[in-house]
Order: sequence, then C-alpha cells, then structure tokens
Amino acid sequence: MDSRTHDAYDAQDGCVAAGHPARRAFATEAVHAGREDLAAQGLHAAPLDLSTTYPSYDSRGEAARLDAFAADGAELTGTPVYARLGNPTVARFETALARLEGTESAVAFASGMAALSAVLLARNALGLRHVVAVRPLYGCSDHLLTAGLLGSEVTWVDPEGVADALRPDTGLVLVESPANPTLAEIDLRAVAHACGSVPLLVDNTFATPVLQRPAGQGARLVLHSATKYLGGHGDVMGGVVACDEELARRLRQVRFATGGVLHPLAGYLLLRGLSTLPVRVRAASATAAELARRLAADPRVARVHYPRIGGAMIAFEVHGDPHAVIAGVRLITPAVSLGSVDTLIQHPASISHRIVDATDRRDAGVGDRLLRLSVGLEDVEDLWADLEGALGTERAGGGVRRKETAGR
Ligand SMILES: *Cc1c(COP(=O)(O)O)cnc(C)c1O
Repeated sequence: MDSRTHDAYDAQDGCVAAGHPARRAFATEAVHAGREDLAAQGLHAAPLDLSTTYPSYDSRGEAARLDAFAADGAELTGTPVYARLGNPTVARFETALARLEGTESAVAFASGMAALSAVLLARNALGLRHVVAVRPLYGCSDHLLTAGLLGSEVTWVDPEGVADALRPDTGLVLVESPANPTLAEIDLRAVAHACGSVPLLVDNTFATPVLQRPAGQGARLVLHSATKYLGGHGDVMGGVVACDEELARRLRQVRFATGGVLHPLAGYLLLRGLSTLPVRVRAASATAAELARRLAADPRVARVHYPRIGGAMIAFEVHGDPHAVIAGVRLITPAVSLGSVDTLIQHPASISHRIVDATDRRDAGVGDRLLRLSVGLEDVEDLWADLEGALGTERAGGGVRRKETAGR
C-alpha cells in the first residue's frame, strides 16, 4: 500500500513537491507538514497560541504591514498583530492542508459554511454573482445558494450542462464529489475543462485528500468541512479552502473583514487530526467497503451507493421504514455529521437535507428511504451485527421484498 500511495501522490500532484526540497509520500506529509520548524525551536508538539493580541513597540512598522495586507492580502510575516488577522497555530494547519491537497495556499475558517460564504462573498464583490452548481450538495450549501442569502444567483445543472450555463457574470462553479448524501460522483477533469476560466470549487469533504486531490484535476478551489474527516474525532468545528495564492489573498481579506476565523484550539486539533488522516480514512474505508458489500446482498436493502473511489461513507435505501432503522441502532450513533472515529447514521430527508425543498431534494436523488452511514473505526463484525439488528424488525414486519439493484 505504501509504495502505491507514494507513486500516486507524486504522479498526480507535481506541484506538491514544488518549492519543497524532498518529494515525500502523502503519509509522511500528513505527519510532518506544518511542523518543519519545531525541532529547531526545541519543540515537539506544535505550540498552541491563544493570544488575541501581540505587543509591538514599532507602530510605524505595523502601519506599513497593515497597508501591505490591505493592498494585497498576503499572509503577514513576523510577529502576529491581532488574532482576526492571523494566528500561528492556525497557519500550521493551513500549511499542512495545502501540502496535502497540492495547492499553493489554504485559508481556514470557523466552519465549512464560513469557508463557502467567504468564497461567495469574494466572488460577489467582483460583480460575479452567478453560480453554476450541481445537485446534490450538502443541505446548507444548497440552501445558502437557493435562498440567495449572500446575493448569489444559482443555476442548477447536470455535470454535462456546466458549459452551457456559464454567463459573463458567472463567478463560480460548485460541485461535490462524492456528493453529500447520495455519494454521486462527478468526472472532475471534464467539469474543470467545461468551466474554462471560471474557477471550479470542489467540496472534497467526503473524499479527503487521501482519496482524491481535485486541484490536480483542474479545480481552483478545494473546500472542506474540516469538522468531518480532517478533525476526525467529532470534537472540532472548522472549514478550509485550499487554492492558489491569488485567490487565497482575497479570502484572507474577506476573513479579516468578516471575522469567520478558525479558533486556535481548533487549528491545533485539526493539525493533529491530519497526522492520522491517511490511517483513519484507509481503515474506515476498508470496513465501509465490506459493509457496503453485505448491505448490497441483504434483501431488506433496496439499493446501495458506494463510490468508485472508495471512502468511509455509504448511502443505502431500505424497502421498509428508514426511521425504524435509525431508532434501532445501539452501537452506531444516530446523529448528523460524519467523519468521526465512531460510526454515525442519519436520515438525510429528515436532518442534513431537510432545509432543501422537498421536490428539489427528491429530484437530486435524496429519497425518503435513503440512509447515510459514516463508518468509523469499530470492528466490522460489531457494526454489521448492529446494522443487522436495526434492519431486523423489517423482516419481522412486512416480509421480504425483491431487490431492485445493488452497487450502483
Ligand atoms: C458538513 C458539510 C459542510 C458544512 O460544514 P460545517 O463545518 O458544518 O459548516 C459542507 N460540505 C459538506 C460536504 C459537508 O458535509
């Protein structure tokens, strides 16, 4: 596995190694990126800097630095000034995530939604208010665009319809792959090509850079709800956009002015989370692949969606009552969110995608019998026993119906 991972990383992301002396494998970067200066400082763990402000006896110097930031949004070098402008612990996480996604830069935010909002605000400010987007998206991302809360106007299309939907005022094309919650996959290279000069934003929350690095396929912006796999333990909320430095500068200016900053403790936890990301994602994916296989063979399950690229998420449709499955789990936690060390299950039509109009939701493939499972690190047999028990009432209830299809 290690040598294959190494090759894939080098081949896919030439820019990962650019500006960095030695080509290192993804798993090595996950542990070391953002920490290179620690040993020279006599440190091992990354320092957690909780300061909101910093002493400076040179106000003339500060004036010049603030002028420079206002002019171009370049990251402040030297002593930090104020926590909304930048924080050294958060900067380590940004450095590491950019390295893993193969981009020049990354800009962290308080949540995934704060990250998406900053991108939309940055585009809207240029008069580029039109967004072309492919459903399904995460429920709140869909809502933010549909409700026009930030003044965006959205055209929903199939992946094949992106090129035709572009207008002179289109500022962004937005896709998720695998998508939340159906796990529908998109040919990112083809969509990136269709976008022409309009930036393509890929929400990579589900795949993580372990399984897919969209920048290598032409995406200019790669967004994460860091709350999910990057943190990985269900105890930190954050968002991040990996992109080129030109776009990052605008995003830093928007973040400074609107205040959706990532808390330094969250930055610390996210940097720590990255070091185990490859191990967690690969282990949970192996379990998920096995569970997907068993679900697909189960007569109580109508359909299973499991991505070609793998991953730790499974979507499946039951013949019977999905709410009974949610009520029936004992080991698995019935809860929204995903990407934690423990397994979570939820009913998208009731929770994560409730805010999307019911017709739009169903048209996007989010049916009322769809369940979304985020597979954690528990033993596969214990998880299967729990799922079996939760599905079991179904068989007792109304008999077993014939399967339609599996594995799609
Ligand atoms: C959860 C999620 C978001 C939103 O992230 P928050 O951290 O909850 O704000 C965006 N995109 C996807 C795919 C998500 O799963």
